[in-house]
Amino acid sequence: MVRDIKSLLADELQAQFRDWNQPAYRATQALDWVYGRRVTSWDAMTNLPKVLRDLLRKHYTLQSLALVQLHRAEDGTIKFLWRLDDQSLIESVLIPANPALYGEASDRHTLCVSTQVGCAYGCKFCASGLDGYKRNLRPDEIVEQVLAVERWHLQQTVPAPAADGGVAPAADSAAPALKAASPERLINNLVIMGMGEPLANYENLLTALRILNAPWGGGIGARKITISTSGLAPQIRRLADDPLQFRLAISLHGATDETRNKIMPVNRKFPLSELTLACEYYQKRKERMITLEYILISGVNDGLEQIKPLAALANRLNAKVNLIPYNRVEGLDWVRPSESVQEGFLAALEDQRVVATLRREKGHDIAAACGQLRLQREKVEQAQKKVAAVPAR
Ligand code: SF4
Repeated sequence: MVRDIKSLLADELQAQFRDWNQPAYRATQALDWVYGRRVTSWDAMTNLPKVLRDLLRKHYTLQSLALVQLHRAEDGTIKFLWRLDDQSLIESVLIPANPALYGEASDRHTLCVSTQVGCAYGCKFCASGLDGYKRNLRPDEIVEQVLAVERWHLQQTVPAPAADGGVAPAADSAAPALKAASPERLINNLVIMGMGEPLANYENLLTALRILNAPWGGGIGARKITISTSGLAPQIRRLADDPLQFRLAISLHGATDETRNKIMPVNRKFPLSELTLACEYYQKRKERMITLEYILISGVNDGLEQIKPLAALANRLNAKVNLIPYNRVEGLDWVRPSESVQEGFLAALEDQRVVATLRREKGHDIAAACGQLRLQREKVEQAQKKVAAVPAR
């Protein structure tokens, strides 16, 4: 299978160029075209000799994501729906300056990226798992989400609204981006909590993150990259042994096995005792604060009986708790608790000396809302296919 150039680390590309008897600076030039200028065609790499461009074309692909739909929330959050080369749909979410979210107060632009098409883990509250698992994303498909958003940003124009309520992409999205390309990066904070269980696609994810972290690639500091998992304990230990200092977030959503078992099937495989030991191992190896994500769902996990075990876990792991009021998912019956219940839950946690935040903004419910745009679009496309299949009389 032909690999995409955005799945290669710099030393792999350099070795390839040596095999082709090309000087080392040519690999640097190629990397600059891909990651600095974010070009989408070999012919745009104008300072590379044609013979070298032809070699690259023959041995690698240079695929880009096709923007299908774009949605802006009131608070500035922008959701992108992309089409991959096999027609699958994935989402990324751009969150402009938001000091209360991940990373430090100076963070400017956070991108939440997907790692799989669909998800096999079937958390009961999540839209991404509703349609089942299709496949892992390749490293280039993870990397390209960052580049595609930066390319879109460089266009600095928002296309006109589409008939379906979304925003149609520009007819030729690549060309204006090339003109406006600049070495300045837009994305400086990454959260790996879009569609899919990131640690179930471990190899591809880590390759992508090495590329996005490298100075020759995305240039995003490892400490500005947060990997979120539903609780794959063995992979958390593996990540702890990786030299890169990524941040870790656990999608906890329940402080007892009883509660977690009800909404997260993964807990039957890796119950809280095992997950806690893996987190402790991570914490000791990295000496980094872990975040516990907790989506508040009315009548499911918002009772005060969750407070003591949640506080005990947070204090044991030296973890921060991020409370997220549930965002409704079409086709699911769960609802978010009232604001007074949310505030009461936060206050009770703080009484237990837990560092906790409650996301109050609209449109920031990335974890719960992720996957909805894709599901809606797939329904529309399936209906269109059915109509097209009906023979004309
Ligand atoms: S919450 Fe994460 S792990 Fe669970 S089904 Fe959704 S995408 Fe998969």
